Amino acid sequence: MAYEALYTRGRPKTLSQLVGQEHISNALARAISSNRLSHAYLLVGTRGTGKTSTARLLSKAMNCERVHDAQTSGRALDRKEIPCNKCDSCQNFDSSPDNVEFDAASNRSVEDVTRLLSTAYLAPLRARVKTFIIDEVHMLSFEAVNSILKLIEEPPPNVAFFLATTELNKVPMTIRSRCQVLNFRLIPQTTIAPYLLTLARRLKVTLHEDAAKKIARLAEGSMRDALTYLDQCYAMSDKEITLDNVNETLGLISDENLDDIISAVKAKDRAAVGKAITRAFRSGLAANVIAESLITRLRDIEFDMLDRNEKNFAELDKIIDALRTATGEMYGSGIPDIILEMALMKLVAPVQNFVATPLPVVQTSAPSKNLDEGRKIFYDVVNFLSAEDRTVTATTDAAAVTNFADDTLTLVFRSDALANVFKKNQRQFEQAAAQVAGRAIKFSVVVDVNLPPPVLNKMSEPYRSNLVGAMKIFNATDATKVSD
Ligand SMILES: [Zn+2]
Repeated sequence: MAYEALYTRGRPKTLSQLVGQEHISNALARAISSNRLSHAYLLVGTRGTGKTSTARLLSKAMNCERVHDAQTSGRALDRKEIPCNKCDSCQNFDSSPDNVEFDAASNRSVEDVTRLLSTAYLAPLRARVKTFIIDEVHMLSFEAVNSILKLIEEPPPNVAFFLATTELNKVPMTIRSRCQVLNFRLIPQTTIAPYLLTLARRLKVTLHEDAAKKIARLAEGSMRDALTYLDQCYAMSDKEITLDNVNETLGLISDENLDDIISAVKAKDRAAVGKAITRAFRSGLAANVIAESLITRLRDIEFDMLDRNEKNFAELDKIIDALRTATGEMYGSGIPDIILEMALMKLVAPVQNFVATPLPVVQTSAPSKNLDEGRKIFYDVVNFLSAEDRTVTATTDAAAVTNFADDTLTLVFRSDALANVFKKNQRQFEQAAAQVAGRAIKFSVVVDVNLPPPVLNKMSEPYRSNLVGAMKIFNATDATKVSD
């Protein structure tokens, strides 16, 4: 016998089995009991939330003999008996010529749709009610929409329409206003995971709880996706599905690896970040998949924190933001791995890094007094730090190196404000300079309001004098605008 997918086997057989949409199944059960069903329904919701399943259950129920008996005798029906699945009508539903189903996304030609819809005007062959289930109704052509509209406005006797869509905004208002709208919710993880466990027990498969939770999380509210994932894992495993099976089968990075990366970033431990991210790359996963998995994991951690009433998300949000930006930069880039690695490294403050892996500092007895060497050290340090965090070096464009003696760099700023910003990061500069120069370098910060604008500092004579002259003529105070 051919293998039947869980997605098919897990399909609800009665309204009571419609998972995560109790607001809909309860309302429909009441409408059926009191014989107040509409002839046109618009089923709205994300893929895999149960729209088509519900349409089939309703089609079946409209023709179910036991449902009909209950309606006639005025007996209230339980969701478990809608439909009965035992009467002739229910048993033959799958092959019934009176239930027409099509996907507007694949059968969009006007001729196709007109042909299918024209049968609405013919009396049902065997059934009590002829039913039309049209998936992705927003994909229909203008003409097809018009013929449906005509059918809904003046419905032939004993016909019902179930129009399903994932995009309500693309369904014409004329259709929406003539249908009873059923809004399908995303199914919460906390509903999907227990359902998967129950299903697995029924199939005599050992499904580990953490594996079920992981699948539920990946499904993002879609039961169909959850069942498809479970199916894939089931096919690849031997009657037992563990979290490792799930990660392996679905090509996912393990939570343990993700947590290692996150804790290394939080601990500002550059070496550990490098080690953990290398391990993730070795598993053969694309950088964008790793980044997205990290974002999902961080979101889960935040949800757990919310449960514990913890509200300090700033640190985790910062990591999520950096990963989001990195993911955007990866598209079309030839170096996605490096982009991801750099994004994580940037979160690890350089100052901590120097503490963690100090280079040997060589003390020299004969310090250089060469200004050029001082400038070279300074701009190497600026480049080095800029690669890590551009905000640390933001003010250095406005600074001038005026002296370098006894391993002390004299740095001149035009204002106290600029100098103070530099002083905040001075330690980082000194540590970076020690690495660049191979010995301890000190910074002496001086404020000189007469310092020429930054562009001038880098200009050679006679251009510098000419520009200063021109600025005087035009009474300009800022030369940066003429630098382009
Ligand atoms: Zn029945």
